[in-house]
Amino acid sequence: MATDSSSTTDKVDEEVIDPCDFAPEAAPEKTPAPPMKIVWRNVILFAYLHMAALWGAYLMFTSSMWQTNIFAIFLYIISGVGVTAGAHRLWAHKSYKARLPLRVFLAFIYTIAFENDIYEWARDHRVHHKYSETDADPHNATRGFFFSHIGWLLCRKHPEVIRKGKAIDTSDLLADPVVRFHKKFYLPLVLLCCFILPTIIPMYLWGETFSNALFVPTLLRFCFTLNQTWLVNSAAHMFGHRPYDKTINPRQNALVVLGAVGEGFHNYHHTFPYDYAASEYGIKYNLTTMFIDVMAWLGQAYDRKTASKGMIKARKLRTGENGVGQEQDVIVDAVQNGVLETSKMVQNGVDAVQNGVMETSKMVQNGVDAVQNGVLETSKMVLNGVSALSKAVQDSVNDIQKTLDVSDQDNVLETSKIVLNGVSDALSKAVRNGVNDILKATGATEDVDAPSSVHKRQNVVAQNGGGQTSSSVVQCGSGLKEE
Ligand SMILES: [Zn+2]
Ligand SMILES: [Zn+2]
Repeated sequence: MATDSSSTTDKVDEEVIDPCDFAPEAAPEKTPAPPMKIVWRNVILFAYLHMAALWGAYLMFTSSMWQTNIFAIFLYIISGVGVTAGAHRLWAHKSYKARLPLRVFLAFIYTIAFENDIYEWARDHRVHHKYSETDADPHNATRGFFFSHIGWLLCRKHPEVIRKGKAIDTSDLLADPVVRFHKKFYLPLVLLCCFILPTIIPMYLWGETFSNALFVPTLLRFCFTLNQTWLVNSAAHMFGHRPYDKTINPRQNALVVLGAVGEGFHNYHHTFPYDYAASEYGIKYNLTTMFIDVMAWLGQAYDRKTASKGMIKARKLRTGENGVGQEQDVIVDAVQNGVLETSKMVQNGVDAVQNGVMETSKMVQNGVDAVQNGVLETSKMVLNGVSALSKAVQDSVNDIQKTLDVSDQDNVLETSKIVLNGVSDALSKAVRNGVNDILKATGATEDVDAPSSVHKRQNVVAQNGGGQTSSSVVQCGSGLKEE
């Protein structure tokens, strides 16, 4: 796990303390350029590689398996990190230190990219920084986009590159057994890592065809990674802002930042080449810096060097381009202030909501108490009312009992009979009147009271289609009459 030395970074407060001293030197004396010697073997190989990559791109969208496409993207990213975290930031710049397991891993993933052996890459890159944009720069961007992108690999090196390259101190590189091993066995290693494994892994692990495995994760991926790396030398030396040093060509290029896994902050990188993050903004948009930080957390990377904030700010003010650096500071400050203000507003809002919730809770509690009191009062009133009613009923019962005591029992019976007879008569009369009304309505004139008319009436009703209802009415009337 991380140790103290690996979990912190070394803040650098003085410019260019890097032991390799990558500050650009004055341009070597301009000498007439010798005639350019084209290396036709490389021209043919790179021409074939780019055509094969186009075919691979076609296969990627038409016939290769999705596992193969994911594998190709994975190889592009991992080999890109091999170049940026390994050959570039570790071996060329010594911007951090790595333990043996990490160095072996970086050498392995770097080899997938096939960008020369570690020793040669790191040495050429040191020459690039030290003699940037001069004849001694291997990919001198003042010779145009094509030369700095790929042209420098299609011709013999400028004599100045060779001469200055020999003068560069590379003792630290040769002291590393991983670099020596890589230099010695480069050819079989690159055949295995860049071509054989990327082709046979998709064939044997998920049954991809030989053609798809060769053209998509091998040749297309290889060509794509190469071009992303080359864009750092071409596009990032031509297009973009120069917030740190307007006197040099390297620029901040967002597209290169994304394509070259975090290496596009190139004006910053050439100004502070010893910073392991190769950017002022740490891990932001910088997969390589994230990788190194994770390795530091695992205890595999340590002594990461960074430029101090104060020094970066001072340098921006001193040499930054047209206030671009200051402008960025203003933007950063504005964003920070905005975040602070927003935080305060959110906090105030939260406080207000909490107070509101507390007030509402109190009001609800008061309401509940009032309702409870009301229910209690109502219950009391109901109980009082029931008690009063009970008492009144009891008094009435007592009165009735008293009345019965003084009255004759026969009178009660007689009264009951009278009441019952009255009810019976009234009911009978009402029914008779109802029946007579129905009979009148149906056209009959006989009085239902005359017994002889009953059967006639039944016939009339039956003939008129009265049915069940009329018959039952007549029967009912007949019954009443008999009683
Ligand atoms: Zn560099
Ligand atoms: Zn550069």
